Amino acid sequence: MIIAIDGPSGAGKSTLGRMLARELGLLYIDTGWMYRAVAFAVIEANVNASDDLAVGSLARRIDIDLHGDPDTLRVTLDRRDVTEAIRSEDVTHMSSVISAIPDVRRAMVERQREMGRRGAVLNGRDIGTVVFPDADVKFFLTAVAEERAKRRFAEEFEQNKTVDFGETLADMTERDRRDSTRADSPLRVADDAILIDSTGQSIEEVFAGMMAIVNQKSEIVNQKSEIRNQKSVI
Ligand code: C5P
Repeated sequence: MIIAIDGPSGAGKSTLGRMLARELGLLYIDTGWMYRAVAFAVIEANVNASDDLAVGSLARRIDIDLHGDPDTLRVTLDRRDVTEAIRSEDVTHMSSVISAIPDVRRAMVERQREMGRRGAVLNGRDIGTVVFPDADVKFFLTAVAEERAKRRFAEEFEQNKTVDFGETLADMTERDRRDSTRADSPLRVADDAILIDSTGQSIEEVFAGMMAIVNQKSEIVNQKSEIRNQKSVI
């Protein structure tokens, strides 16, 4: 089973993606971490972010890997663990810039399809529209900007970062704008996605709603395969 979770920053995609993957025994793939790893490599190699050719070629050359179960997920760049390093503000900003480059996207999408093809919960911005347009279940998770920024702010505060709520909200709004307006694979709701607005809901409530949809969907898939089996017996 392939489950796609798309949506803007701070909508709860990673928390809920991990919960779903754990519950269903599926692989969990956070595609944002992959764009962040490319951004980290761009900064480290001092590549000019507006040189699409150079950034695209770097994205194709580097080896990005995700290991571990949903709760212990780690990301490596050329076998070096960069899980903590990709959370910095510079990397966050850079990831939203370089993710608009078509060559970067092509390289990442290829890897994501390869990693997820045997079944996974993937979260990102283009999973249901581009990476797995035939995903079994597609969620588009959102919440009002102030609430999403509050969650981000709390996370950053926990990581002892000196942050300002106004800045967090402004950065997030700018990233969302860039993600939604880029020409290649913009953030948008897939036609067949289930839209969930988590504003004012607890994570547990949203999770229960998502699980109900997944269970319903897998019943339909099972029924269809039973009918196919019966037909082949007749
Ligand atoms: O999800 P996260 O905030 O970690 O993603 C970092 C950045 O990577 C996003 O701001 C977005 O620009 C980009 N991204 C993307 N497509 C994805 C996942 C992330 O463009 N599937």
